[in-house]
Amino acid sequence: AASPDPESDYHTIIKDTEKGTGSSDKHEFQAETRMLLDIVAKSLYSEKEVFVRELISNASDALEKLRYLRLTGEVCEESDARPLEIHIATDKQKRMLTIQDTGVGMTKEDLVSNLGTIARSGSKAFLEQLKTSGASEDSSSIIGQFGVGFYSSFMVADSVEVFTKSSQVEDSPGFRWSSDGTGTYEIQEAEGVQPGTKIVLHLKQENREFSDEDTVSGIIKKYSNFVGSPIFLNGKQA
Ligand code: ADP
Ligand code: MG
Repeated sequence: AASPDPESDYHTIIKDTEKGTGSSDKHEFQAETRMLLDIVAKSLYSEKEVFVRELISNASDALEKLRYLRLTGEVCEESDARPLEIHIATDKQKRMLTIQDTGVGMTKEDLVSNLGTIARSGSKAFLEQLKTSGASEDSSSIIGQFGVGFYSSFMVADSVEVFTKSSQVEDSPGFRWSSDGTGTYEIQEAEGVQPGTKIVLHLKQENREFSDEDTVSGIIKKYSNFVGSPIFLNGKQA
């Protein structure tokens, strides 16, 4: 193997290079999304660790999309040579968990339509089920049944940041998306964002276990067998 170059080697650690620039605009979550987020945040669902599965599967999807775009030649040049990887980092002191991929990334429009509205079928089915079963059924069991994708982050985090830069659209700037999972989210342009997506969870006090390396390592082992790209935890292959 080639010896690691500290400047260009992406394998070792997740770097803190992003910086929001300029003003941020505030957006409201779509009404259905607000409803879903409200249920997720208040949920007493006990298997909270499934959010790790959801975020890893999103990272994996983004890498598969980029793999495909490379075959069809639809990627911008700078993303061409990058390894397709998932990097996870824990920071107990800051009570943070970070999941980064070198996948397809998102433009600003993608951020609004993918993270501001409920496009996915699982979440739609979840809301349908809630409506038909009414308040009688425990929403927790429905969360377990359907999964709530990206929004499951808000089961364990009281704020979430997403840094993303499209690998598909030439010269697309990087963006910082952030929300506390209540009514609104903000989007701001950002510098130093790597092509792909980095999700930073600021964990609730009661969920600080997810900033513990051993705990997260165990969870990754449980859910990583379906992932076609290597996963690194704090720089070591998981
Ligand atoms: P689903 O994965 O079922 O579509 P999610 O709620 O998990 O639903 O994610 C919503 C959408 O957000 C995804 O379809 C994708 O377009 C976008 N997204 C989420 N995570 C990432 C990521 N790591 N990289 C690129 N796009 C992402
Ligand atoms: Mg998903």
